[in-house]
This record gives sequence, C-alpha cells and structure tokens, in this order.
Amino acid sequence: MKRKKFIKILGSAGIGLSISSLAQSCTPPKVSKIKKGLPNYWIWMRPSSEKSDDDFKSEFADIRSMGIEAVLPQIYASNKALFNIEGYETETPLLERLIPLAHEAGLQIHAWMWTMPCNNPRIISEHPDWYAVNRKNEPAHAHLAYVDYYKFLCPRKTDVREFVQHRVKALANISDLDGIHLDYVRLPDVILAEALQPNYNIVQDQEYPEYDYCYCKTCRDAYKDKSGIDPMEIQDPANDKDWYQFRYDAVVDMVNDYLVPAARNKDKLITAAVFPNWESVRQQWHKFDLDAFLPMLYQGFYNEDIDWIGAETKKAIGRLNNNKPIYSGMFLPHLKTPAELEKAVQSAKDGGAKGFALFSYNDLNEEMKEGVRSVILRQ
Ligand SMILES: [Zn+2]
Repeated sequence: MKRKKFIKILGSAGIGLSISSLAQSCTPPKVSKIKKGLPNYWIWMRPSSEKSDDDFKSEFADIRSMGIEAVLPQIYASNKALFNIEGYETETPLLERLIPLAHEAGLQIHAWMWTMPCNNPRIISEHPDWYAVNRKNEPAHAHLAYVDYYKFLCPRKTDVREFVQHRVKALANISDLDGIHLDYVRLPDVILAEALQPNYNIVQDQEYPEYDYCYCKTCRDAYKDKSGIDPMEIQDPANDKDWYQFRYDAVVDMVNDYLVPAARNKDKLITAAVFPNWESVRQQWHKFDLDAFLPMLYQGFYNEDIDWIGAETKKAIGRLNNNKPIYSGMFLPHLKTPAELEKAVQSAKDGGAKGFALFSYNDLNEEMKEGVRSVILRQ
C-alpha cells in the first residue's frame, strides 16, 4: 500500500491567528484562501437556526483558525429542511445564510443531508409503501428498529430514488455550495455495532428478521424475476451471497444512477459518511462513484482501540483500489485528550488517509481545539 502524504496547509498558523483576533475585535475577517478541490480537514456540525450571523461568523473563524478547511453543516435530518426546496417544509433557509459566512471565513461548505430515513409525517401518511420492510414483513415507518427515527425508505423504488434525487438536485442548484455530503445512505443495521447493542438491551449474535431489510414487494418481485426465488423463502439469508449482493446493489444503483449525476451536473463535489462494518448496513460503498469517502471510524462503538482507525483506513483504501481519497472520520467523544487525537491522526495517516473529518464541532472544548490546531500545523 502506497502511503499517501498529508498536504500541508500553507500559512494556516498566520491565517488562524489573524482571523481569531479580527473576529474578537468585531472587524470583518479578511478572506483567507479557500482550499481548491477536496479539503483535507473537515468538521461536521449541527448548526442551530437560533444563532445569529455574528455567532456563525465567530464559529467559522474559530474553525478556520484550527486549520480546518471544510464545514459540513447538517441541513436535512429526515423531516424539515434547513434550505429552500420545493415540495418540502422548510424550517428556515439556514444553509443559504451559512454559505457566504463560511466562505468569508475561508472554509468550503458541504451540505450534510440524511439520505434514506424519512420522518416527514406527510410522506408517512401519503406514501407508506415507500418504506423498507423487514423479514417479518413489517414496514420501517410502523415497526421501528432500535430508535424512532429509523424510518428508512426502500432504495430500490423509483419513486424513492426520485424523491431523494430531488433533494440532491435542489442542493446542487445552490450556486455557491461546494459539495453535497450523504449520510445514512444505506439500510438499517442488521447487526448493530457491538458496543451499542447493550444500549438497546439486545444481543445480536446472528441476523434477526426484525432488523433484516428489505423484503418489500418491489424488492421481492425484482429478486423473483431475476432468480426465480422469493427472498422470504430463503432459509439462511445471512449466508446467501446473491441475496446480499442484490440488496447492496439497490443502494449502489441509487447513488450512482440518481444522486451522483444530480450533483455532477452542477459541478458539485459529492461525498458520504460511510460505515467500516459496511456489510451490516447493506452499504457497499466502495462501489459508490463519489469524489471521496469519510468513513466513520468511531473505535469506541466497536470496542476497539485507536490503532484500529489506521487499520480500517488501510482496509477502506484497499477496497477502493486506492483510487479515491479517504478522510478518516473521528468521533471526538472517544478521543479524550489532544494526545489521543494526535495518536488517531497518526494512525489514519499511517493507514493512508489524505486527511480527517471530526465529529463534531459541538463536541470540542478549548483544550481539544488547541489540539486540533497543533496536529494540523504539524502535518
Ligand atoms: Zn424494498
């Protein structure tokens, strides 16, 4: 495996200091250079629409001062949108407000949207047939796996693909937006990450039917046409390679045939937050034709240590045949000190990552911000 080199941000120390001090003195920050192409250092954030432009100016200046190059604000979390989009309820057009503020701070801005879960009451009532169905023949909107927001749509249905594509198109039409970032682009977890199972009082020592999707009529009919077999009749679905692949393909085809073209038509970058245990969430993401991947290498959820981040980064790059960049996703609540963050970044770098993505801005205290700043400076 060829080790990729992190690219140094030129002059990030000077830029950072000048932005912080200017922001504090209420002078508009000078525009620092926005990274061209894919950023190396990303951060997810859940922006509150209650905040003022000045609040965001100071947050973005703070983020840029750490050397971070791109923000990923969550602007669609499966119900109301935080941007204007025809046919949706918009809570407030926050994304449109954030774009110039992020750019002014020298940051790229990529819109973080949930892809498959849909918790909009109108869609649930008008299109209950759009939802994924488990092996007990229970639709996801009515029989919930794990948590009440796990109302996943079926990725095979044309109406669903068009519904999701419409969202990507609407974002792609926002001229100054830098990119679109897909989250939850998958089916529900048939087996949950090990350390999360006790939270739900479950032991998933095998694939249980209530968590196993999708057995909707569309999927069953399509598989019957292809193979002559009704998936409901498969005796050991966990070990049926063809049936597994058929479900991977439903997500892959939706991404590659509907979402990627919608973004590329408007010259937007398109990326996704993806799973290391991709089989368990039916997410064969190394086949997604995206610009880059931000795998969520959150070691604590898998009862692993920090070195696992590098090992998973290396595996991901191998699955992609080393032809797409990986930015290792790091979960800040699992990295308690700047030293742990530094170890995680080194591990990712050793595994071949081009950079990293932090989850999330809302989890950073001052000591960790300083840790991020110094770790980026040393790259
Ligand atoms: Zn289905």
